[in-house]
Amino acid sequence: MDAGALGRTLMHEHVVNVNAEVDRDQPAMSLGGRRAEVLAEVVTALQAVVDAGISTFVDATAVGHGRDVGFLAEVNRQVDLHIVVATGVYTFDELPKMFHYRPRGGRDALTELFVRDIRDGIAGTEVRAGIIKVATDRQGVTPDVDRLLRAAAAAHRETGVPLTTHTAVAHRTGLDQQRILAEEGVDLSRVVIGHSGDSTDLDYLREILDRGSLIGADRFGLYLPGRLGPDERIGVVADLCALGYSDRIVLSHDKTLYSDWWADGKGPQVPEWVHTHISTDVLPALRKRGVDDRMIEQMMVDNPRRVLGTTGAY
Ligand SMILES: [Zn+2]
Repeated sequence: MDAGALGRTLMHEHVVNVNAEVDRDQPAMSLGGRRAEVLAEVVTALQAVVDAGISTFVDATAVGHGRDVGFLAEVNRQVDLHIVVATGVYTFDELPKMFHYRPRGGRDALTELFVRDIRDGIAGTEVRAGIIKVATDRQGVTPDVDRLLRAAAAAHRETGVPLTTHTAVAHRTGLDQQRILAEEGVDLSRVVIGHSGDSTDLDYLREILDRGSLIGADRFGLYLPGRLGPDERIGVVADLCALGYSDRIVLSHDKTLYSDWWADGKGPQVPEWVHTHISTDVLPALRKRGVDDRMIEQMMVDNPRRVLGTTGAY
C-alpha cells in the first residue's frame, strides 16, 4: 500500500501471541479452544482503535513470540485497519534449535527466513512482513543475540524493510543494538529502538536519538508496580519534544489482546492498558505539557510513515 495512506499509526502492538505447537496439539489449553470467542473480542477491540482515529497498527510479534498471520488475516477481513506484520525472532538468549546447525557464515539461515517472510508471504498467505523485530534484554548481547542482530541487519539491507527492537533500558541495550547494526552497515535512522519509553534517563535516550534512530515510547498503559507510571512516561516524551526530538519518537502501548503467557489469555489488568489509551488520554496530556499539534502529527503520522515508507535495498 501507499505509505501516504498509513495515517495515525501505533508502532509497537500485538494482537495474539500463541505457541503454535501447543495450540495445535492441546488447543483446549491455548487459543484453539477459544478461537471464535477471541476473534470476536479482538475485532471489537480493534474496531474501537479505528473509531479512536488510528488507521495503522504494527503487530511486532515475531517468531518465538507466537505470531499467527492466519488469525490476523481473519481479523483484517472484519476490521478496516492496516495491520503491519513482523518477521524476526523473539529471544533474549538462545535461538531456536532449528537455527543452531544451519548456515551462519555467508547468508545466515535467519536472513533467509526473514527475506522469505518479506518477499514471498507468510503461512501460505499473501501477507508479507513489513518490519523486522529483534530483542536484546537483560542477558545482553549473547552469541545468539549477536547473530540475530547481524542476520536481521542483512535482511534489512537486502529488502529495505525497517527494524524495530525490544530492549531492557536498565541495561541500556539499545546502545548495544545500535553498535552492532551500525557495524553491519545499517543506517540507524531506519531503526526504532523499542521500549525506550521505559526510561527517564535523558542522557541514555539522547545518545540513542543523536545516533539517528527513533525511539519507541511504546508502553503507554503498562502502569504496573516497578514500572513507570503515566506522568513519568508523558514527562519524558514532552521533555524530548521540547529538546527538538519530536521527529524521532513514536508512540504505542505494547498491549496484547490474547496471550498464552497467561491461562486466561489476558495478562495483567491495568485499566489504562488498552489500545485506545494514547488517543483518548496520552495525546491530551502531552498537549497540556506543551507538545503542540505539529509534534503530535510527527509522532503519530510522519515518523511512522517515514520508517515504514522508506524502501529499497542498500
Ligand atoms: Zn512487544
